[in-house]
Amino acid sequence: MKHVRNFCIIAHIDHGKSTLADRLIQACGGVSDRDFHDQLLDSMDIEQERGITIKSNTITLSYKAADGVEYELNLIDTPGHVDFSHEVRRSLMSCEGALLLIDASQGVEAQTVANLYLALEYDLEVVPVINKIDLPSADPERVREQIDADLGLDPFEVVLASAKTGDGLDDVLEAIVSKLPAPKGNPDPEAPLQALIFDAEYDAYRGVILLVRIFQGRLRSGEAIKLMHTDADYQIEELGKLRLKRVPDKELLAGDVGYLIAGVKSVSDIDVGDTITHVNAPAAEPLPGYVPAKPVVFSSMYPMSSDKYIELGKALDKLKLNDASLTFQKDSSSALGFGYRCGFLGMLHLDVVQERLGREYDLSLLLTAPSVQYRVTTTDGVPRVLENPIEFPDPATIESVEEPYIKASVLMPDRYLGVVMELLLDKRASATKFSYLAVGRVELTCDVPLAEVLFDFYDRLKTITQGYGSFDYEVIDDRPTDVVKVDILVNGERVDALAMLVHREKARARALQACEQLHKHIPRQNIKIAIQGAIGRDIIARKTLSPYRKDVIAKCYGGDITRKRKLLEKQKAGKKRMRSFGSVEIPQEAFLAVLRTDTE
Ligand code: GDP
Ligand code: MG
Repeated sequence: MKHVRNFCIIAHIDHGKSTLADRLIQACGGVSDRDFHDQLLDSMDIEQERGITIKSNTITLSYKAADGVEYELNLIDTPGHVDFSHEVRRSLMSCEGALLLIDASQGVEAQTVANLYLALEYDLEVVPVINKIDLPSADPERVREQIDADLGLDPFEVVLASAKTGDGLDDVLEAIVSKLPAPKGNPDPEAPLQALIFDAEYDAYRGVILLVRIFQGRLRSGEAIKLMHTDADYQIEELGKLRLKRVPDKELLAGDVGYLIAGVKSVSDIDVGDTITHVNAPAAEPLPGYVPAKPVVFSSMYPMSSDKYIELGKALDKLKLNDASLTFQKDSSSALGFGYRCGFLGMLHLDVVQERLGREYDLSLLLTAPSVQYRVTTTDGVPRVLENPIEFPDPATIESVEEPYIKASVLMPDRYLGVVMELLLDKRASATKFSYLAVGRVELTCDVPLAEVLFDFYDRLKTITQGYGSFDYEVIDDRPTDVVKVDILVNGERVDALAMLVHREKARARALQACEQLHKHIPRQNIKIAIQGAIGRDIIARKTLSPYRKDVIAKCYGGDITRKRKLLEKQKAGKKRMRSFGSVEIPQEAFLAVLRTDTE
């Protein structure tokens, strides 16, 4: 145990976490030059392309330190985005220390602070590393001040490095072995087993691979194990270490990080965060800190061509094998046919799922406006949790509605304080507080409805702060709200797929926006068509699509007014008949246009 270090790298997105991981792996000979490619730990195509880490990854490295001892370093990669903060938490739970990586030109940002607090919550030893010192715009001294003033960490403990050039890499490695603690706890291999499942991934050939951190006891191949929260038993088929590839071993001991295969069929059969113990001689208690991940954003997915519905179901089943936090159930709409109602951890998760379905399964999809989960109590006193506008009860029967709130934190240079406050007020923020950090920087915290950050919040923040503002949040609680269901009517008919749940204050604006988009994208018809937004029976927005008008009197030139009038009357009657019978075909582009304004 003395020569093991379990650590992770935490950072704001783009501060160089993946690049530093690559360098560490190379420096410890974890990969041959031939097999090396950038962002080794990011295995999905989308991760590689967008440069984001979605799924955490882990690798065991051997490092011969300056003191002559060979250390075993377990690098536990963490995703950098708030949507996946539950994964960050689990990764942190399996470490004793963390490298807090900060970009030498960007300085401390919102996720740097959020991640540091998380690390401290789990009692991790934190070593700050200033990265990208090779950049011409690097200002390590200013960042050092921020580390002191904003983060309260010792500025003299800072390690300077460049993950790109490899400068300072030895210092980083030495800091890992000298400043981060070895695993603590009972070293007796006969003590009752407690192992944390901190990650799981699906392998088409082997089933689910569980990544575990042993806290106490010993785990051996062939043993019968019990998952304490899910109360399921399995038998270990194989276990070992992760050295970029899986390397089988006979046992894992307290302090170790490794993988195990035990015939688990799907990631949703287990709970990441669960504790493994032996069936014989089990531990008295599971490890603390278990929080299951819950989806908070919901949207219905419809395939563009309705014959792809079955395929969509199969694809979702497959994604679910590897992504337990994705939820879905059958859904249908009279306008769009059959589809699935899906739950996501956040907007990035939604984006990633949609993109993977497109890329890996060749499915183009239409997604309805994302919604949060509302707690609705009706006059019969029964509280219900719902997120689908279709299920929203008659307003007359609603006693109260609650919606989820987040604690948001925005970090920015103080010159943007005014515009950011304005944006947050528009987003119904309350309990706004700000505090000055190191020179010229402000941290603003407030409570905001989660629903408000689903729409255009992040982009608007980036625009008004010219990219300098950064944002982080955590879901806190449910609070009373005045939410209404807005229906969109085309030619008097409700279009179910376009219904949305909106705060009353925003209802008119959102309805009008939808009407305008439809107006732009529905081709003109023979009759006049009203495109309306409504709450219940009240029309709150309207656009009119003017008809094609055939000039029926074109042929009668000259005199006879009664003949002209007759023709016009006839035309009017015909249109009236069309209006009452005809239903308007809404083209797919129109749906796309309306639904897109919501997510952009
Ligand atoms: P992550 O989002 O924290 O994983 O960040 P990445 O490792 O993907 O790095 C983000 C960008 O910064 C990439 O374009 C890297 O090439 C670049 N980068 C990372 N480290 C350095 C560095 O030390 N110097 C310079 N100049 N660029 C770096
Ligand atoms: Mg990365």
